[in-house]
Amino acid sequence: MAQKARLLIVEDEAAIRSGLVDVFVYHGYEVETADHGDDGLRKALSGQFDLILLDVMLPGVDGFEICNRIRQQDRQQPVIMLTAKSSDEDIVQGLTLGADDYVAKPFSVTQLVLRVEAVLRRSGFGEASTREIRLNNGLVIDTENLCAGDTVFTRREMDLLHYLCQQSERPVAREELLARVWGYANHMEIETRTVDIHIAKLRRKIEIDPANPEAIITVRGAGYRLMLAEQ
Ligand code: CA
Repeated sequence: MAQKARLLIVEDEAAIRSGLVDVFVYHGYEVETADHGDDGLRKALSGQFDLILLDVMLPGVDGFEICNRIRQQDRQQPVIMLTAKSSDEDIVQGLTLGADDYVAKPFSVTQLVLRVEAVLRRSGFGEASTREIRLNNGLVIDTENLCAGDTVFTRREMDLLHYLCQQSERPVAREELLARVWGYANHMEIETRTVDIHIAKLRRKIEIDPANPEAIITVRGAGYRLMLAEQ
């Protein structure tokens, strides 16, 4: 079964918002909405969405600022801006702030769906998942059978490894792991410890010396990074 893409729609106009929800639900997306910039910002930074559709003019924090904040946190997060006018200035500003694309209102729904699909494809969404993960310490993890030799992994551990593997170019914050691997949007202190506990268990399984980890390294202030074997 194809994986459902999770879409966040930040749009204050109720008619447009509900129209977009209908269209994307119809096309098989999981959709969440925000009708205010502040709520949009909070949800956008949760790291839970495969793509964010972002209106520019919003009550509270505007769409440009939300885009800017998303980029400070996550350079990879796909974002499409919905601009009210197709003025070049808006478009240039949106793209300068790091939106992946923009769609000018009034837009054709078909065009918008195609743009969303294109941006998701470029972001690597829905790519066949890796059958094996090769770590820098020589360990090869069989992701289908949840094992590496005699070592067996839980489904959660494998999801965690998988997500870190997909993001292996960068360290991943615990909050993002909670959102993406556990599905927790509003983390609490106790929940970020959940991530640490799972990382510790994983290290005992995959590290040559768990006290001096080399496969899952801690990047101070940034999170955990999985170190893959050189290609
Ligand atoms: Ca608006």
